Amino acid sequence: MTHIGVLGAGQMGNGIAHVFAQKGFRVILFDISQEQLAKALKTIQANLERQAKKGAIESSVIPEIMGRISSTTSMADLAGVDLAIEAVTENESLKLSIFKQLDETVTNKNAILASNTSSIPITKIASATSRPDRVIGMHFMNPVPVMALVEVIRGHATSDETFATIAEAITTLGKEMAVSQDYPGFIVNRILIPMINEAAFALYEGIATAEDIDKGMKLGTNQPMGPLTLADFIGLDTVLAIANVLYDGFKDPKYRPCPLLVKMVNAGYYGRKSGRGFYQY
Ligand code: NAD
Repeated sequence: MTHIGVLGAGQMGNGIAHVFAQKGFRVILFDISQEQLAKALKTIQANLERQAKKGAIESSVIPEIMGRISSTTSMADLAGVDLAIEAVTENESLKLSIFKQLDETVTNKNAILASNTSSIPITKIASATSRPDRVIGMHFMNPVPVMALVEVIRGHATSDETFATIAEAITTLGKEMAVSQDYPGFIVNRILIPMINEAAFALYEGIATAEDIDKGMKLGTNQPMGPLTLADFIGLDTVLAIANVLYDGFKDPKYRPCPLLVKMVNAGYYGRKSGRGFYQY
């Protein structure tokens, strides 16, 4: 595998393009927005410069890495890729239509089509294509160049060969993988989101202040930040969306989203990105 297509040039797409190009792959970044593509290339350049300042890479290799990344607003330019990784907005009908189109566009029928979705079933995404055995979840963590983990999700029909190829690519990237079957939330969000939701319940029930909830979990369980601070980083709208995927997917009341979280999202308190969440920024 040498030629990678990345669909969606947002937060995650630019990180995925960055790490593949850094390891010598040729990357083509696709987005419907020219502005997002320009912003992504700027972000990658700035992040590489930061890595060079820290001594993680030589600054002389930056032009070479940037030279391996091209960008396009036409999906047809992805026809020749060996692996396509989709990282567009988290919306099921959008992803289904992208995968249908991608399947028709990528001419190599052995090429693998992966999704970076946080919560949409890989089996459902695969059903939009003619090659469900070659569809898999590659759930990178944010920020991609920094985080060591890629969660790999096997859809119902994902073949052993597809899985082995992706496992090898993750090793080449210098990252670690955790393998999950295709159930709501996979591994990381299945466990993380209920913890954040429970922290919201602790605040809602008046058990402690936000500061003490975070301090308790940070210093008491050795996490780099407390769950409410982390929720503000992720975005409360995203946290709620994933909580609803767990609740709807399992039909189990233990996953019900905290009413305070719902109310904050209704009020537009999305966390850092909106200037206000559990904390004010
Ligand atoms: P983002 O909003 O930063 O980027 C989404 C990009 O998709 C935008 O650039 C947008 O222009 C583009 N897009 C929208 N419709 C498109 C289309 N039809 N064709 C091509 N491009 C299109 O979102 P993000 O945070 O990068 O998330 C992308 C995916 O990664 C989602 O599935 C999300 O669940 C997943 N994810 C996000 C995180 C995170 O922490 N943000 C972590 C892991 C996985």
